[in-house]
Amino acid sequence: MKRPILIHPDPRLKKVCAAVPDLSDALRMLADDMLETMYDAPGIGLAAPQIGVMDRLIVLDCVKEEDGTARPLAMFNPTVVAASDDVNVYEEGCLSIPEQYAEVTRPKVVDVEWIDRDGNTQRETFDGLWATCVQHEIDHLDGKLFIDYLKPLKRQMITRKMQKLKRERARG
Ligand code: ZN
Repeated sequence: MKRPILIHPDPRLKKVCAAVPDLSDALRMLADDMLETMYDAPGIGLAAPQIGVMDRLIVLDCVKEEDGTARPLAMFNPTVVAASDDVNVYEEGCLSIPEQYAEVTRPKVVDVEWIDRDGNTQRETFDGLWATCVQHEIDHLDGKLFIDYLKPLKRQMITRKMQKLKRERARG
């Protein structure tokens, strides 16, 4: 089931999410809902707080090629366990900050550990767009948005645009 995506500014996007204690069918269903919501948007990543659920859960699929095979990943309690000194600059966007993009610098390669939907611990090295995306989504679990990396003036400009967008949407 598709879920509505929260738009910045929203207090739920600024909170630190709680670790998921045990996997359950309800949590697996939540992950499925998040993947459906992400693909529909369309986007390459989504974090639970973006749909108002304060659990440490992210989903992503950075396969962008038209003929590429989808690789939907659901990560419970993901953590970056190692990061390269090498950095990458990507123009990032966010489903909670529609149509706003800015360059963000992050480690180029990261090792991430998480619990998969079967309850097994996984560890994998991510590079390029995958590395940027997984770091962006994990940030969401700590109440951090990509605009928090920008200069205050630019961040305020984007926030004002989003406030205007929300007012317009509320009016219908
Ligand atoms: Zn985001």
